[in-house]
Amino acid sequence: MSGVKQSIIRGELESLYFSGAHFVLRPLVGGVGAILALRHVRPPRSDRFQPNRMLEVTPDFFARMVRRLRRSRLDLISLDEMHRRLVEGDFKRRFVCLTFDDGYRDLREWAYPILKEAGVPFAIYVATSFPDRLGELWWLVLEAVIARNNRVGLIIGGRDRTFDCGTVAEKQALYDELYWWLRSRSTENEMRSLVRSLAAYYHVDIAAFCEELCMGWSELAELASDPLVTIGTHTVTHPVLSRLSQDAARSEMELSRSIIEAALAVRPAHLSYPYGDRGSAGKREFEIAAEIGFKTAVTAQPGVLFAKHKRSMTALPRISLHGDYQRMRYVRVLLSGAATTMWKGFRRGKAA
Ligand SMILES: [Zn+2]
Repeated sequence: MSGVKQSIIRGELESLYFSGAHFVLRPLVGGVGAILALRHVRPPRSDRFQPNRMLEVTPDFFARMVRRLRRSRLDLISLDEMHRRLVEGDFKRRFVCLTFDDGYRDLREWAYPILKEAGVPFAIYVATSFPDRLGELWWLVLEAVIARNNRVGLIIGGRDRTFDCGTVAEKQALYDELYWWLRSRSTENEMRSLVRSLAAYYHVDIAAFCEELCMGWSELAELASDPLVTIGTHTVTHPVLSRLSQDAARSEMELSRSIIEAALAVRPAHLSYPYGDRGSAGKREFEIAAEIGFKTAVTAQPGVLFAKHKRSMTALPRISLHGDYQRMRYVRVLLSGAATTMWKGFRRGKAA
């Protein structure tokens, strides 16, 4: 997302907050509950070039948010309990579910102690190639290549292209351009092989990101044994499901469930679509997830939950907690639903 777009959103959140609009709109758009989406929880880095910063919040912010939610009149519940409330229409109290995508080790190190102490249930959606150490966190490969070089060359449309990226602004612009160019390749294989050749040429070790950042099976097993934790699946290879064939998309979902069941002795009933934006998971994916028996599946499309979501349990919206909105008043506005209703269709944020 460009800086301009980001400041527009921030500006809109500010004006919503200060006008009190979120409070007025709340009965209309507040819904029955919300699912929060998080990825990394870790101390801030000082690097000026951090194109993926929006995927993380700090432990301090996270602790304050959990305290605030605990003091609120919202119930903090598991995905199974959310499913029950939606199915039975039990909306006596509004609720919030906390979910984490990808299965990063910083979740265990920084977020888990806070959640454990507060007795707050949460879900982890695991892409099984990550603990299997075969995963490709390609967005971090792209970040590393651009961070470490002042010029980056790539074959685009059969032509050699070279990009200057000596300054932070150039790096940021190039990252955005290449990220979306890669995401728009027509097949997953094409995108992956482009990233692999970038990594090879610029000596970036793809496998190292998984090893360093993602929990292994033994770490996941420890968390899975805690009744507060729900293990969900996030597919095997973390693909853009919409550009796979029907069979391949189905197999990504089914196989990841079997792998987790074999490794952790729990059969995941909940799914998170990789990326989760409109372009990567749609009607076809929602139907497959329902057909193969997931109780719920979540997108990254912004929104709060309403009673009507009982009929679209495998297409649930979430509220992403972005690194750029680490202020409690933003959380209050986001949870009120006013902001998500307003910017629906407007945002095109990167997700993972
Ligand atoms: Zn992800």
